[in-house]
Amino acid sequence: MSFTSLGLSDAILRAIEEKGYKTPSPIQSKAIPAILDGKDVMAAAQTGTGKTAGFTLPMLEILSRSESVKSNSVRALVLTPTRELAAQVAESVEHYGKFLPLRSAVVFGGVKINPQMMKLRRGVDILVATPGRLMDLYSQNAVKFSQLEILVLDEADRMLDMGFIRDIRKILALLPPRRQTLMFSATFSDEIRALTKGLLNQPVEIEVSPRNTTAQTVNQWICTVDKSRKTNLLIHLIKKNNWSQVLVFTRTKHGANRLTEKLGQSGIKAAAIHGNKSQGARTRALADFKSGTVRVLVATDIAARGLDIAQLPQVVNFELPNIPEDYVHRIGRTGRAGADGQAVSLVSADEAPHLQEIERLLKKKLVREVIDGFETGHDVPESNIASMPRAKSKPRPQGQNRPAAKKKSTHTKRSHSGSGQRNEHRPSGSATRSNKPGN
Ligand code: AMP
Repeated sequence: MSFTSLGLSDAILRAIEEKGYKTPSPIQSKAIPAILDGKDVMAAAQTGTGKTAGFTLPMLEILSRSESVKSNSVRALVLTPTRELAAQVAESVEHYGKFLPLRSAVVFGGVKINPQMMKLRRGVDILVATPGRLMDLYSQNAVKFSQLEILVLDEADRMLDMGFIRDIRKILALLPPRRQTLMFSATFSDEIRALTKGLLNQPVEIEVSPRNTTAQTVNQWICTVDKSRKTNLLIHLIKKNNWSQVLVFTRTKHGANRLTEKLGQSGIKAAAIHGNKSQGARTRALADFKSGTVRVLVATDIAARGLDIAQLPQVVNFELPNIPEDYVHRIGRTGRAGADGQAVSLVSADEAPHLQEIERLLKKKLVREVIDGFETGHDVPESNIASMPRAKSKPRPQGQNRPAAKKKSTHTKRSHSGSGQRNEHRPSGSATRSNKPGN
């Protein structure tokens, strides 16, 4: 299938061509015709699938076909959970709409509200917003929704995780009931399904990658290591493998700062990106990372959500996430749009329960490596992924840890220098001894 057969105008096709896209991604070939047909859409798609263009292209097409916008009004509203994602969606809107006479704006918190109010004064065809700032603008009469035709909820699951449900419900109550609604979410939890009731009208359901599976192009492996040696191991891996662009995840903001400092001390340029950083600092860190001035970006889950860094080759989980689904989101940062990626998790013995939950979710065991010189004093017990159903995880606040594994067991180690290729996964069910799940 080609983009030309999807029903998009020449102005949009030109912008796509400029981007160098040859064929629509699976989400695009399914979502674009449905949206152009006026249908509501509920799509399960992670970052990296091309979902942004999947809703932006048909939205621009629909908006370009009819009348202009009144002052302070909005014809299409895209809600996103984070400022970074809002900025990235807005960038896409601007690029794909560059040959169209449409106006767009992006609003989010953490920066001055006045310039945003000025921008909205003439009205915009497309407004990309985070929920909190949008409510502030609404309460100051800076934005009206009477002309609203299209609503997009991007990364709806994350908006719920981040506690935006009340803001979202308030916003929904302000919108005209006759509109087209598009919802994108990495997963469809019961909570998401509850939100969709009454929100979506006979939606077309689209699922592009099976729920909770990681992209095939990502080589995933774990390095078992003692907790106290993780920083040195990371420095060793970056230097030895000459990794030039690495996204590193830590569980806490404090941990991100500390690691950034240590990397800097060892001569590796790094920047941290998390909720305590100002918007300016985050934008700068991301720009420096993209341009290559900064080699390592250390991020917490929420800050990293939705970051679109084209063809990110290397992701490191400095700590495993508390919530196993976050592992899938993290890994989604790499190996996108067909490019190969590598994701390594540094796992210490106390993280065995998290590892077990992740491996149960993935339904496979991850390949283990022990790097020469970083052999463990405390073994990481092998997960038992077969015997028990995984407990349904509830979102937990960042930084909240679970009890460490009490029982220890042995496992076979493979020693590795840390420079080779790791393409295969160990078949699931191989090995090992069991340890009790951590929750
Ligand atoms: P997204 O899932 O929207 O965050 O997009 C992930 C990445 O894929 C972005 O860097 C896009 O520029 C890129 N992308 C989107 N659509 C296509 C396509 N049809 N062909 C190649 N790359 C694409």
